[in-house]
Amino acid sequence: MRLTTSHFVPGPTACPHCGAERPPITAPITVRGREERIFAGWAPCTCEGAQAERDAWEAEQERAARGAAEAARLAKLDASGIPERYRCAAHPWAQSLAERIAQGQGFYLFGPNGTGKTTLACAAARICLDRGMSVRFAVSTSLLESLREFGKEARSLADDLAGCDLLVIDDLGKEGAGTPRAAERLFDLVNERYNRSTLLHPRPTLVTSNFRRGELPRMISEGGAGLAIASRLSETTEAVEMGGPDRRLA
Ligand SMILES: [Zn+2]
Repeated sequence: MRLTTSHFVPGPTACPHCGAERPPITAPITVRGREERIFAGWAPCTCEGAQAERDAWEAEQERAARGAAEAARLAKLDASGIPERYRCAAHPWAQSLAERIAQGQGFYLFGPNGTGKTTLACAAARICLDRGMSVRFAVSTSLLESLREFGKEARSLADDLAGCDLLVIDDLGKEGAGTPRAAERLFDLVNERYNRSTLLHPRPTLVTSNFRRGELPRMISEGGAGLAIASRLSETTEAVEMGGPDRRLA
């Protein structure tokens, strides 16, 4: 193999910090099967000023990368629908709940108002999100409202909610008896997530509610859909009573 230096290579340059001469350096490239050398900048100077300049440049690159990662995280948080005031939510059970959710376990957090159900759900959801899971948070009243709609937008929302890694349904049962159609669509959603779940890609659902699972049917709908939802949730979620007798997450 013949080595040529037919490419232009400039002469040495002076270091702006100490004035020392920096010779040009070249790098090999292969052109039509022949190795040639091209100009690849000047040799770095080892003086303190030059080193400081390189350190500052590296720090700036790192800052930019961290900024981009943080922006991506915030964009995912925005897309998740987790309410602004719950984005920094913390709860002593959040970590272990998130770990079990990441393994595919769904949960049903129930108890009276003020027992931290939504705080725990959002804190765990955020940990899941930071671990790379796609998360959607929906308040059940507005969820039922959207599911009742017809058309492309409603279908695309339902598909998004059915396919995400973790779906949080907040305050289920609060809406009171919804229309049978909305309850049926909610069952379809819960059921679709169940059907799409595989061992490798589980799609757990995290529900918060003021009601026990047994009370759900009459709270959700007068028709059979409420019963079907409660039954599906019994199969796919573990009930955790909040604010009741001291219950620890295993
Ligand atoms: Zn120098």
